[in-house]
Amino acid sequence: MKTTFREIHRITTPLPTRPTSVHAYLVPLDAGGWMLVDGGIDTPEAWTVLSAEVDAIAGWSALEVHVVTHMHRDHIGLVQRVRHASSVPLALGELDAARAAHAAADPDEEDEYRDALLRRSGAPEQVREALRSAMKRSRGMASFVAVDHRIPSSGGAAPSAPEWEAVWTPGHTAGHISLFRRRDQCLIAGDAVLPSISPTIGVNRQRDDPVGDYFGTLDRLESLAPELILPGHGSPLEGTARIAELRAEASEETDRIFELLESPPRSAWELSGYRYKGRDLPMTARIQALRETLAHLQHLTLAGRAVRIESDAVVRYAQSGRG
Ligand SMILES: [Zn+2]
Repeated sequence: MKTTFREIHRITTPLPTRPTSVHAYLVPLDAGGWMLVDGGIDTPEAWTVLSAEVDAIAGWSALEVHVVTHMHRDHIGLVQRVRHASSVPLALGELDAARAAHAAADPDEEDEYRDALLRRSGAPEQVREALRSAMKRSRGMASFVAVDHRIPSSGGAAPSAPEWEAVWTPGHTAGHISLFRRRDQCLIAGDAVLPSISPTIGVNRQRDDPVGDYFGTLDRLESLAPELILPGHGSPLEGTARIAELRAEASEETDRIFELLESPPRSAWELSGYRYKGRDLPMTARIQALRETLAHLQHLTLAGRAVRIESDAVVRYAQSGRG
């Protein structure tokens, strides 16, 4: 299997759930040394692979910087181990850095936020209870490392890697960043562009309209005209055709949820259930579906196509003019 693209080495580590693997990229820098982009999830299996491959290709002491595209566990999970092995500075988009710092500093408040999201969305008590105990179990599992470089949302050169431009690509997370090398039109996309699945777009507290943000991201990336896209999961992509497909998929998703907004008004929990009718999803996937549904509902509301109706502490949605 080919694992080198324009002298960039791809290192693939296993994930315990789908998608079943994630890529890190090890990039030789013009000034010498290497940049590591992403890492893997924090499991011994993932670390064994990453550790051995970086050792064999570059050597840990040759690393100059560790850039993480976004704060999801499958990308950021190994930051502590990378820090121990190399002591290089960590760079993360400023909004994701703020999120990660907040979650580490105030996990109780973070849990309350998630529970309130379920309550206001109309989720049943047993789901809320299941989430609460899942959150308790996962306490202390997330590895936190202070971020040395908060990459501004305005973009600019990547720290220690001036030939790479950091491009803010929100949607999948608020602070997601991708890296672009203009001289050969090469894009390290993280999860902003994926070949065979649509990146999840969830509601969050930092941005009002993550779906609108994602459309902006796709426009921005298309205007860069990348020739080669190296994604966080799956095979490399050539050209911008996939970007156009992702735009169409996201906008179809918004329209589909709009069509579900018939009277009587429905809660986001009910709507996300209709969306996945007949499929038995695990709880984490149901909650992910809820966060995505909420993101599209927010997009519809801001566009004036849907209205929010609050009663009994639950928010319901209807098409504009029908509620
Ligand atoms: Zn990912």
